[in-house]
Amino acid sequence: HLEVYAERIDIEGGWKGVILVIRDITRETEADRLKTELVSTVSHELRTPLSSIYGFTELMLNREIDVMKQKKYLATIHDETGRLSNLVTDFLDVQRMQSGAQLYQKMTLDLYTVTKQVVEIYETSSVRHSIRLRLLNKELPSIHADEDRIKQLLSNLINNAIKYSPDGGEIDVVLDLDGENVIIRVIDEGIGIPHHAFAHLFDKFYRVDNSDTRRIGGTGLGLSICKEIVKEHDGTIHVESEEGEGSTFTILLPLSSVLPS
Ligand code: ADP
Repeated sequence: HLEVYAERIDIEGGWKGVILVIRDITRETEADRLKTELVSTVSHELRTPLSSIYGFTELMLNREIDVMKQKKYLATIHDETGRLSNLVTDFLDVQRMQSGAQLYQKMTLDLYTVTKQVVEIYETSSVRHSIRLRLLNKELPSIHADEDRIKQLLSNLINNAIKYSPDGGEIDVVLDLDGENVIIRVIDEGIGIPHHAFAHLFDKFYRVDNSDTRRIGGTGLGLSICKEIVKEHDGTIHVESEEGEGSTFTILLPLSSVLPS
């Protein structure tokens, strides 16, 4: 996007000329567009969980309900609250990333311990959906990385794996090592991703558009945040997937960058 400003100058004595100012405003326009999209996505995504929490709490307050039903309603309220919490986290992270205020505080950490903590957070929700969530690991060296950001990366991927899996599915979080990289894989047997979407999957706000993803809901921000975090650790993230069969997200963190010096 270019902004053009032109003014004619006539100077007495015969000088004539034109001042032409051409400014590249691509960045400003892009920032404006992202802001508008952020506000509309967040407000849209707030609506469903809020109305569901409101509706179920009202039902529980106004009627005599047996314990089984109470549990079911509470489980929905719990899931929807989790959705709101993810939404707020995504929103704040994208804001922070955009303002350039995202500071990375790298320290020596044990990836297995960190991953185990994140997997434990998702245990209740996977059990509720009869999903078997497993952590498989190889002996890994300590790495130099930002603990909160790595947790967020794992959390976004595991959350997606659960969200886009049918009840009864299986999810493996695998920690591995080759000669050059620490490898993190999140493997699910969920709805999968059409190949035409691969090119845009890590873009801000991009969501695959079909009846499943519309029903499940989301902001399209999680994977763009993952990409940014991986980039800050000099790593790469990529996806392999077949529709109806499942998806595997693979992150490579080069040892040359993440080994403590
Ligand atoms: P969202 O909030 O929509 O989940 P993400 O940025 O995390 O946003 O993911 C972008 C899109 O990629 C999702 O809308 C979904 O279509 C697809 N996607 C991400 N992870 C998975 C997965 N594990 N299985 C199937 N589709 C996925």
